[in-house]
Amino acid sequence: MYSIAAPHAKGKSAEDNIFAANNRAIALAKEIGVENVTNATVGSILDEDGSLVVLDVVKQELKNLTPPEFCAYAPIKGYDEFLKDCIDQCFGKSRPEGYIDACATPGGTGVLHHVVHNYSEPGDEVLITDWHWGAYDSLIDDNNRKVRTFSFLTSDGHFNAASFKENVEDILKKQDNIVIILNGIANNPTGYCMSVAEWQSAVDVLKEATKDETKNAILIADVAYLDYSGEKEECREFFKVFGGLPKNILVVCAYTLSKGFTMYGQRMGAMIGISSDKDVIKEYVDINQYSSRATWSNCNSAAQHAMIRICQDPEKIKQLDAERAKYYKLIQERAAIFVEEAQKEGVKFVPYISGFFITIPVTNSQAVCDILEKDHVFMVPLKKGIRLAVCSVSKKKMHGLAHKLALAIKEA
Ligand code: PLP
Repeated sequence: MYSIAAPHAKGKSAEDNIFAANNRAIALAKEIGVENVTNATVGSILDEDGSLVVLDVVKQELKNLTPPEFCAYAPIKGYDEFLKDCIDQCFGKSRPEGYIDACATPGGTGVLHHVVHNYSEPGDEVLITDWHWGAYDSLIDDNNRKVRTFSFLTSDGHFNAASFKENVEDILKKQDNIVIILNGIANNPTGYCMSVAEWQSAVDVLKEATKDETKNAILIADVAYLDYSGEKEECREFFKVFGGLPKNILVVCAYTLSKGFTMYGQRMGAMIGISSDKDVIKEYVDINQYSSRATWSNCNSAAQHAMIRICQDPEKIKQLDAERAKYYKLIQERAAIFVEEAQKEGVKFVPYISGFFITIPVTNSQAVCDILEKDHVFMVPLKKGIRLAVCSVSKKKMHGLAHKLALAIKEA
């Protein structure tokens, strides 16, 4: 193919197998009717009738915005009130000790981009879990860094602190900075949630590995699915372990309005930094604001104001919490149907606790997905398994899915 791209960009393309499978499911549904197709690829909450859920309180406040609120340029860092609301919404009653500041980003994706860009060097390895969201690979690769994975879970289904330690130590033999992305809460694609003790063990590994202060660790806690990961305050308790850490460990929470506010396409989030050192946090804001100026400039004003409007009214926060709790429950019920049937059918799955996805580990995922598609069931093939979006499959369609999977796995 004739190409004029710069060498680092040659051959890259954003062909996403998730969107591709979704497109095939939509096309088939048009042909044979939505009721006859199970589309388990969509990473957004769909109602029992298959329509996209937009929280009522969010809908109301988006409609109430004034023209300046939705059209004016927002500050590059983000509106102060918005950033304060993000910090409050993220931590709840478990705000960690330390200096905390934030910059607006276009969703959690923007957070990942900036941290990789500003805290690692070209050629460095960035550490992620073996089970991870596919976009991590591109976010790391497009910045000319390298993906390094560790084994997320032990064979008995717990956080694999030993594998984490081994990889952290090995990377720090070669690099002064290590960036880690840890989607440890309602993990995409497995639904695993690290306990407070497991988060603590991860932080302890970093403390030990950076005892020599020439080494720095930057831990991104990717909390994209936080609001559907458990009871509101209980699921936030782990944030406390990020307080009082040595100054050469920076924690960045990748906070997003995509799921918690169902504002996926509004592209809004915040990078929330936590450090025991004032200078580290000042530098954090300075360098990341600079990168915002140099990439997307300022973020969406409308989404920031919608959040501000909700968070300034305790009644609206109550409504927000109640709506999230309702959908958390719905997703749990859908998952419970699958889990019960999968156990009966002998279909193995990675330990699911909460979140939008369940993963079925298989070695020939593409072949299994191809067979399922003939049965009008669409799922996402991953390297080591198949991803089932419990956020988007109705309870009715969830019944019998494990059976279809069992047959496809046998046939493949
Ligand atoms: N992290 C994980 C694990 C995700 O699955 C997603 C979205 O699917 C994101 C982060 C970021 O999404 P957004 O950029 O829409 O906030």
